[in-house]
Amino acid sequence: MSEDTKKKVENVIIVGGGPAGYTAALYTARANLEPLVFEGFQWGGQLQNTTDVENFPGYPDGIMGPEMMSQFRVQAEKFGTRFVTDDVDRVELSTDGGVHKVFLGDEEHRAKAVVLAMGAEPKRLGVPGEMELAGRGVSTCGVCDGAFFKGHRVLVIGGGDSAMEDSVFISKFADELTIVNRRDEFRASKIMYDRALAVENIDTLTPYVPTEFVAGEDGKLAKVHMRHAETGEEIDVEATGAFVAIGHVPRSEVVKDQVDVDEDGYIKVEPGSTRTNLPGVFAVGDVVDHTYRQAVTAAGTGCMGALDAERYLRDAPPAVEAHWFPGGEPAEIAPTA
Ligand code: NDP
Repeated sequence: MSEDTKKKVENVIIVGGGPAGYTAALYTARANLEPLVFEGFQWGGQLQNTTDVENFPGYPDGIMGPEMMSQFRVQAEKFGTRFVTDDVDRVELSTDGGVHKVFLGDEEHRAKAVVLAMGAEPKRLGVPGEMELAGRGVSTCGVCDGAFFKGHRVLVIGGGDSAMEDSVFISKFADELTIVNRRDEFRASKIMYDRALAVENIDTLTPYVPTEFVAGEDGKLAKVHMRHAETGEEIDVEATGAFVAIGHVPRSEVVKDQVDVDEDGYIKVEPGSTRTNLPGVFAVGDVVDHTYRQAVTAAGTGCMGALDAERYLRDAPPAVEAHWFPGGEPAEIAPTA
């Protein structure tokens, strides 16, 4: 028997190691499905880049983002999850409910069901200080971090609905808040724009783009260099908080030509479920979610994805036998619990 034909067919492969992927792993592991998780080289997802998490239920004293992801991982491992700490290079999703393939380089892994949980990334400005001061004044998540800026002078960068929504939320804590947009016109819907500008401590600065986030002596954000988008004039604006709210990019590159995605690249699922257009392929967390993007909502849909995969394997087990491999030998097939 060649090496290829000996390959095991897993019950379920989960792609992604954030709250959605680890929750899907926990549930499928407890269902004895022995999930294999490709958690990414930088496992833990966006929470690896955050500090205190105060809005995940069950942690009344808050918890650091990386510590929380570590606990999610340990809990999934306790029930038999196996992890590969690397980024998937390529996938081949079956269109007819057969065996799906996930590749790390030339190394092929096969599964009857796949849960896609690759997450989304906030767009970055790509200017000096932006990453260096993340967690020390610069943030990409108003709902997560706004409450840490009580009494601060804060800038929100961006002119879309996210910037407006973040501004209204953060303005409850900040003393003064300025929305900085690169154009005089705002992309945001009129209702969201009007709602933000009606708040007493919110004003706008246009058309400016940040060119550098600068730390003070304490190592935290103190000011932001800006350039006028038309005249090139340079100014400094003092601020101890800056939220970059210029959109998100779903991490759907490896599947976007195989599974249905919307115009922004988010994976489409049937409403009220995690089912994609392909049998046995489920999608959960921020790679699906335009709107909520919270650890707790990602974990919730991770649970849904696990239950959907479990039911799929129970009710419509893929005809793995039809996918025997070259040489006529059957693959080793993981027992479905
Ligand atoms: P959008 O793409 O709508 O807006 C991005 C904003 O950031 C634009 O103002 C854009 O400027 C600006 N921007 C982009 N790149 C840069 C850059 N490099 N430098 C400076 N500025 C930049 O993203 P959102 O996250 O705001 O919204 C995404 C979707 O989610 C939208 O459909 C929105 O309606 C929806 N949404 C709905 C909400 C709600 O209804 N409650 C809340 C939040 C989002 P420019 O306009 O010049 O391109």
